[in-house]
Amino acid sequence: MTPADLASQRWFRSKQRSIVAVTEVDRSPIGPGALVVFEASFDDDAGSERYLVPLVGGREPADGEGVWIALANAIGRDAGIGRFVTRRAAGFEPDLAGERRLAVEQSNTSVVVGERLILKLYRLLEPGENPDVEISAFLAGVGFADTPALAGSVTYETLGAKASAAMLQAYLPGAEDAWTAMRSVLASDPQRGVEMAERIGDLTARLHRALASRPDDVAFPARPATVHETAAWRASAEWQATLAVGSLRGADHDRLVAIAPAVRARFADAFGSATGDAVVSRIHGDYHLGQLLARPDGGLAVIDFEGEPSRALAERRAPASPLRDVAGMLRSLDYAARAAEREDGLAADPWLLRARAAYLGAYGDIDAALLSAFELEKACYEIRYEAGMRPDWLWLPLAAVERLAS
Ligand code: ADP
Ligand code: MG
Repeated sequence: MTPADLASQRWFRSKQRSIVAVTEVDRSPIGPGALVVFEASFDDDAGSERYLVPLVGGREPADGEGVWIALANAIGRDAGIGRFVTRRAAGFEPDLAGERRLAVEQSNTSVVVGERLILKLYRLLEPGENPDVEISAFLAGVGFADTPALAGSVTYETLGAKASAAMLQAYLPGAEDAWTAMRSVLASDPQRGVEMAERIGDLTARLHRALASRPDDVAFPARPATVHETAAWRASAEWQATLAVGSLRGADHDRLVAIAPAVRARFADAFGSATGDAVVSRIHGDYHLGQLLARPDGGLAVIDFEGEPSRALAERRAPASPLRDVAGMLRSLDYAARAAEREDGLAADPWLLRARAAYLGAYGDIDAALLSAFELEKACYEIRYEAGMRPDWLWLPLAAVERLAS
């Protein structure tokens, strides 16, 4: 694999760094191919990265060639593959047939195996505990059933370091992500969207209770926030506001500059006085409609506990305010409603009033000032994101910041 090959892969993370060399550091035969590990070195001092690349005859395996099945069955038999160590969850019987790579692709690669399990491959081999696997295993242990059951996992283990390479979990047939489901009910029957928001509020509350249910587990603390933590929340929020201002030009820039003092005052109020009641625990970390699956029977399941991929692993595993998740979902509902207003004629404001009330009512008691400060921080993040990626959508988070700061 050449630097240019690696740089062009969707799952390659460090798009803004320039690759100096790509070296093969490991190759473990599996089925008709091999699991290959490539190490990329860069022209900066931020360290090298290792990527997992399954190959058959020098290219990515196609469906039906058997590499994914071989890996899933190896997990089922608890048979290691070179330095790849497998772990099988209780109750998982191997002997799968059929493999189908999902068309939707983000930072990872997901393959449906035997139409009953889904294999998620983590391409970037990051040393340390992967929160996706860690939280899935924890939730199984505390009996939280609204996430696909964990069937097993694979780690890549070298001297001194362990990195998650894959996770195998139950495949929910016929499920679509809740963003897609919400957009279709908003086009046909908005009241059903309000009911869905209520069910999501209930699910979110149960998820947070489950994550906080073993406070003696060192990896899953549940305790009051420290003064240091609330000060860090404020610093982080102010930084997002600064970045948002810096990402804009012209009239948009002037609009945000005009309300920046109100934004900062919100942060000062919420984070300055939050120390007393604010709590921290492990959270989902990247919570939005796209991280829920809506089953054909109307049930919902939470997936993808990796956290925000751009953040370092230690940061993604740190205890945080559960209200960050709540704020993330409220921002997602705002996106769904505003998009539906443009495209399907929904009256977004009255719908959002009802949907937010339903969501928050089902979630339970919250500190409203703290919640709106996290929403504001998230909307600032969205401004920078949209300014760079989708300028056509910039109006949406800009309007949100204006509403939330006023
Ligand atoms: P990523 O980290 O790449 O975002 P996700 O775990 O969020 O990966 O999964 C991406 C998509 O794969 C989901 O939106 C959904 O369409 C599908 N998917 C993931 N897990 C399952 C599952 N257990 N059952 C059915 N579909 C799934
Ligand atoms: Mg996802």
